[in-house]
Amino acid sequence: MFYKSTRNSNIKVSSAEAITQGISVEGGLFVPESIPSISLDEITSLADKSYADRAAFVFSKFLTDFTDVEIHYCTDNAYNTKNFESESITEISHLFDGTYMLELWHGPTCAFKDMALQILPYFLTTSAKKINLDKKIVILVATSGDTGKAALEGFKDVEGTQIMVFYPEQGVSPMQKRQMNTQEGGNVGVCAIKGNFDDCQNGVKMIFTNDEIKQKLDDNGLMFSSANSINWGRLVPQIVYYVSAYAELVKNQEVAAGEKINIVVPTGNFGNILAAYYAKQMGVPVNKLICASNINNVLTDFINTGVYDRNRSFYATSSPSMDILISSNLERLLYILTGCDDAKIREWFGALAETGRYEVTDDIKALLKEDFCAGFCDDDATKTTIKKIFDEYSYTCDTHTAVAVKVYNDYVAETGDKTKTIIA
Ligand SMILES: *Cc1c(COP(=O)(O)O)cnc(C)c1O
Repeated sequence: MFYKSTRNSNIKVSSAEAITQGISVEGGLFVPESIPSISLDEITSLADKSYADRAAFVFSKFLTDFTDVEIHYCTDNAYNTKNFESESITEISHLFDGTYMLELWHGPTCAFKDMALQILPYFLTTSAKKINLDKKIVILVATSGDTGKAALEGFKDVEGTQIMVFYPEQGVSPMQKRQMNTQEGGNVGVCAIKGNFDDCQNGVKMIFTNDEIKQKLDDNGLMFSSANSINWGRLVPQIVYYVSAYAELVKNQEVAAGEKINIVVPTGNFGNILAAYYAKQMGVPVNKLICASNINNVLTDFINTGVYDRNRSFYATSSPSMDILISSNLERLLYILTGCDDAKIREWFGALAETGRYEVTDDIKALLKEDFCAGFCDDDATKTTIKKIFDEYSYTCDTHTAVAVKVYNDYVAETGDKTKTIIA
């Protein structure tokens, strides 16, 4: 399996190269050249395996340049009870009729980001070895709160790596700030910036693609990589829990093998929902992917109209991990939907950088509608939802999950769709 760049389809690299580079030289994102399929039997038979083994199965389809031993080295070190408080790594809570909360927060920092960031350092160091890279890897991270801490915790004292996290000074919660500023480890650094998450992300992207800086690093035996979801090594672990959750629901006789489910994902950078899309394309029976946003609802508008327009007010909300107006991973989805049309991607994302806006073609609009639905909710509705869920089910939702629950309730009210549903 090779990986192509969204902005230049002629660039083809192995997964080890894609993971160590993080982002392609010309600013594109790495995308697998085809999506491997798995059969229903393969999916349901995963139910008898540990989470680490389920993950190894999915990785073997994407990281074909890794040996079985290398894959198991990564999965066994990441998905164990030293790092996760739950034996099954993720949990599924059955809240109300046909609705399942996929709990991804049982890792060391309580953020779902742990699901990927506990394994990414192993992917990275294994990849570096595979391609005989004798450089120290410098990880730059832009964070809206959760990624920073989860990345620091994943990379702390990992040999051959250094990590620097940039966060918006006003954009993260006091607890997140403390989590990051008190990080232990000899190879970690944290930096607050004036601006919002998009400024962090743009800044980091600019450093990554600056030839002068790259040369300087190279002269000193260093190279950059990314722990943000622009790195394929962040995305591929996220596919696993959707496959795993489906297997689990079949095993528990909550859904029949082959029965389609909806998946609701609270979305910021479009990483987690893209992973769900990959799971669907691989063969997990999925009806709709429901994209839930807070009032920074640029994705809601995009999915509903085909116009991406970031020229709007930016709001700091109670769900800060979704306070994003430039959703990086949408580029990967559009690359897939256009049939790998790198010229179109350059055109649209060039326009986004220059004018803050682009509009996709009618056939792409239609394709988007086939797989995705979208909605958003404001902070008041988020709070009301948290209270309602707690009062009715004694279940505490975080703000991001609550956005997803509210958007899902609105979706059901509007469509009457009774399909069983996973809320990430
Ligand atoms: C990061 C994050 C999100 C958004 O995920 P994306 O992959 O950026 O769309 C949602 N909820 C929480 C709690 C997060 O940490």
